[in-house]
Amino acid sequence: MRIIAPNYYKKFSCIADKCQHSCCVGWEIDIDADTYEMYHLVEGEIGERLWNCISCDGEPHFILDENGRCPFLNSEGLCDIITECGEDALCDICADHPRFRNYRSDGIDIGLGLCCEAAASLILGFEEPFCLEIIEDDGHEIECSADEIALNKAFASAIAVAQDRMLSFGDRCEKLSGTFGAKLPDYSPLEWAKFYSSLERLDSAWDECLEYLGKCDKLAVDYKDERAAENLLCYFLYRHMASVLEDNDISSKVGFAVLSCRVVLTLAESFGIEEAARMYSSEIEYSDENLAKILSKVDIEYYI
Ligand code: SF4
Repeated sequence: MRIIAPNYYKKFSCIADKCQHSCCVGWEIDIDADTYEMYHLVEGEIGERLWNCISCDGEPHFILDENGRCPFLNSEGLCDIITECGEDALCDICADHPRFRNYRSDGIDIGLGLCCEAAASLILGFEEPFCLEIIEDDGHEIECSADEIALNKAFASAIAVAQDRMLSFGDRCEKLSGTFGAKLPDYSPLEWAKFYSSLERLDSAWDECLEYLGKCDKLAVDYKDERAAENLLCYFLYRHMASVLEDNDISSKVGFAVLSCRVVLTLAESFGIEEAARMYSSEIEYSDENLAKILSKVDIEYYI
């Protein structure tokens, strides 16, 4: 089995107390069974705090304070569990964030999510063109299914278009949409803003982005930093094309990637590309409901 990751993956590290939008604020933090058991064995003051700060109403989880902060995030922006018990004491979610995984029969595709500002800065600012690397291989070969082979080919050709620097970024998006039959509704920015406003909301700060979007004349097609725009497009393709294996519908995934880039690049003029991408990712990519509603907005014309 192989684990594959983008070429920037291993360069990621959490910026901890320097993070302005910590994942320890505003997100529900479920505790996996092994860690939950281990927390019951922790003694002393920190053990007592652990016991008092976990709710077992549903999946065990930390009880966030009234500002949505994890009770172990201290005033210096550091995690008391790490300080007192070491990094190994983190529950899976905390240790894993902001990674995502796509599973296939011959291995796992792993990546970093743009919802983390350190990951957004790394992904969008990465100077080398996006490519995938094997980061773990146990030498055990497993055959891919025919659908997986078809998806690999489609993904490689989508990335080749996304990275074709002979074309402007806007032309690459247009070519991708044409090749894969993705067709975005002809909405004005105001109509898109209304549509995004109708989705499930995580952070009220997203309202400010949508208000700005609604006042724009048109969605951005190109961006002054073409490399950052290219990295963004490759990220969305890598993260979302894998789900083609669930429904064989490739056009909506490519349409989602193109639409997401255009919305982020429009917001980037006011909020900066890293912040626009981080907000977009947090609001959209971590809600199955929001993803499904956007995917259903793009025409389905092409199946692998
Ligand atoms: S959002 Fe990213 S950089 Fe910030 S605390 Fe979480 S993992 Fe670290």
